[in-house]
Amino acid sequence: MEAIGVLMMCPMNSYLEQELDKRFKLLRYWTQPKQSEFLAQQADSIRAVVGNASAGADAALIDALPKLEIVSNFSVGLDKVDLVKCKEKGVRVTNTPDVLTDDVADLAIGLILAVLRRICECDKYVRRGAWKLGDFKLTTKFSGKRVGIIGLGRIGLAVAERAEAFDCPINYYSRSKKANTNYTYYGSIVELASNSDILVVACALTPETTHIVNREVIDALGPKGVLINIGRGPHVDEAELVSALVEGRLGGAGLDVFEKEPEVPEQLFGLENVVLLPHVGSGTVETRKAMADLVLGNLEAHFSSKPLLTPVV
Ligand code: NAP
Repeated sequence: MEAIGVLMMCPMNSYLEQELDKRFKLLRYWTQPKQSEFLAQQADSIRAVVGNASAGADAALIDALPKLEIVSNFSVGLDKVDLVKCKEKGVRVTNTPDVLTDDVADLAIGLILAVLRRICECDKYVRRGAWKLGDFKLTTKFSGKRVGIIGLGRIGLAVAERAEAFDCPINYYSRSKKANTNYTYYGSIVELASNSDILVVACALTPETTHIVNREVIDALGPKGVLINIGRGPHVDEAELVSALVEGRLGGAGLDVFEKEPEVPEQLFGLENVVLLPHVGSGTVETRKAMADLVLGNLEAHFSSKPLLTPVV
């Protein structure tokens, strides 16, 4: 398979990069100073694209690669891949579901605890020697709080199961009520937010779910409510979120993702009720290796005419 051109869109994982380099003709898109000229030169050799949560395959890239057969994405979310275009052109698409579910759900719980119990603030308090001058103030209990989940898919369900262990009643919103759970379903996100203390965003990013958390939802969650976003930045109207936090209309937020990563609104930096993470939901050594193996396995299956491991298109 060494002659098959595989275009990697950005640096994502050194093990994946090394393995792609061993097995295929790896082309590193981000190292090209003149990307459109490079694409034109390599168009006849590129048969696969490897993207991730920040750079995938948009319509222009797909159109520029007439020999493209497969997009093997190093993420479960496919919001950076033009799925409609791929279907039209017969380009296969794969992602990395399941292997990252535990990590992302674990991190959601970590964010909830960090925001409610002010774990990061407490750590700073100890480090700067403030403890010697007095005890840290009281914080907010997590156990028993009502957790609302937007998108009861793999990750949403894993968050729900973890929160159940904290005796939290679980509410959720999805496009349809799930037959296999007893969790309380709300057909509107505003209603879900009104009936939850903590709102977790765990749905796929699509045109319909962009800014699914808007001012109305934030106001329904209210000054004691906490928003956790482990989905994608554009799920939340970030300007509205920032003003609600600054004005005290929202109780707190734990955010792994942002609208214009790696840009994060600086107004959030001074707020102690906010915990900010650099999009690390699946970022453990174990999970990134499992994701890389799925990317490689899907490419090898495709080019050996075997069934794909995790097909989407
Ligand atoms: P999944 O199993 O496909 O679940 C996606 C959920 O989104 C489904 O439950 C679906 O519910 C819901 N959904 C889709 N369109 C919707 C809409 N219009 N309104 C409401 N809900 C909608 O995917 P997953 O594996 O749980 O991953 C979920 C997302 O997490 C990914 O797409 C990705 O963006 C994000 N993620 C983030 C990180 C991170 O590092 N922070 C890591 C991995 C994944 P219905 O079909 O019932 O509506």
